[in-house]
Amino acid sequence: MSALILDGTRIAQQIRSEVAAEVKTMSEAGMRPGLAVVLVGHNPASEIYVRGKVKACEEVGIYSEKITPPETASTAQLLALIEDLNRRDEIDGILVQLPLPRQVDSKKILLAVDPAKDVDGFHPMNVGFLSTQRPGLVPCTPAGVMEILKRSKIPIAGQEAVVVGRSDIVGKPAAMLLINANATVTVCHSKTHDLPAVCRRADILVAAIGRAGMITRDFVKPGAVVVDVGMNSVTNASEFQRFFAGNAKREETFRKKGSTLIGDVHPEVAEVAGALTPVPGGVGPLTIAMLMYNTVKAGKMRRGSGVPELSRT
Ligand code: NDP
Repeated sequence: MSALILDGTRIAQQIRSEVAAEVKTMSEAGMRPGLAVVLVGHNPASEIYVRGKVKACEEVGIYSEKITPPETASTAQLLALIEDLNRRDEIDGILVQLPLPRQVDSKKILLAVDPAKDVDGFHPMNVGFLSTQRPGLVPCTPAGVMEILKRSKIPIAGQEAVVVGRSDIVGKPAAMLLINANATVTVCHSKTHDLPAVCRRADILVAAIGRAGMITRDFVKPGAVVVDVGMNSVTNASEFQRFFAGNAKREETFRKKGSTLIGDVHPEVAEVAGALTPVPGGVGPLTIAMLMYNTVKAGKMRRGSGVPELSRT
């Protein structure tokens, strides 16, 4: 048996075109959505992520503004910046790229973002809205996980879902979204006893751990749907062999770049799972697509013109 591969790139593209159509209608009505991305200092990984977000805005027609305070910026300076963005009517979404430099109180900064413009969905007000099933802004990666499931017509209601990882950014909101979609949800973490046995209960297994290939075939019930959120870089040759020996395409990338991307799920899981999101090309592309969706949603909610629907398919 070989798992059905759930193509995140295709689904993300579908969402982006739906968002682009909404942006066009809003722009024609004089309400072009706008996203401000705050990138403090020069973290190379953050710079790559921000470039991707700004490019995605250009592609769907969202106005974007990149604000780059210096590495030495203080909490007070960033708070003043956020307050200014909160006040500006043409800015619908504010994204503060993490991590922030050490001297900055990150929690204070995230709390200062107007919940109506919090397109990352990290503000406690939006966390509360999600857990009480009120309309609000949902964190992009878990929202993307749900879009993959729904658009791939994976049944969720009544299913056993196991989420490995309990971070505020992925694990917890993913669990909450699955509960809201009527799954029976178990959340696991580093203190969970007999993790493989708990995972084997899952009809839907979501791995958001940050450990290369940790979920092996003995964690997976045959036929289960496995969603791999993990993004880990393999740079060590023997580790590479452990995961990808005999995979010509991967070997070529590894030889050229000296690294390759792997999720939290071991490639061997494709032999037991019913469906599986690949890495790369699974959950990753959905994160930016959902950020675009959230910016449009924030704009519409703030202007009281209804929320764009997703997952109608
Ligand atoms: P965190 O490090 O914040 O959380 C990891 C979670 O995994 C924690 O709850 C931790 O448990 C749990 N965990 C760690 N080790 C084990 C273990 N051995 N057994 C069971 N549970 C374990 O990571 P994030 O949630 O931010 O990210 C998770 C992964 O998703 C990463 O690979 C990250 O790169 C990726 N990611 C991908 C995105 C995308 O766009 N595709 C976006 C965001 C993240 P405990 O709480 O007990 O410490």
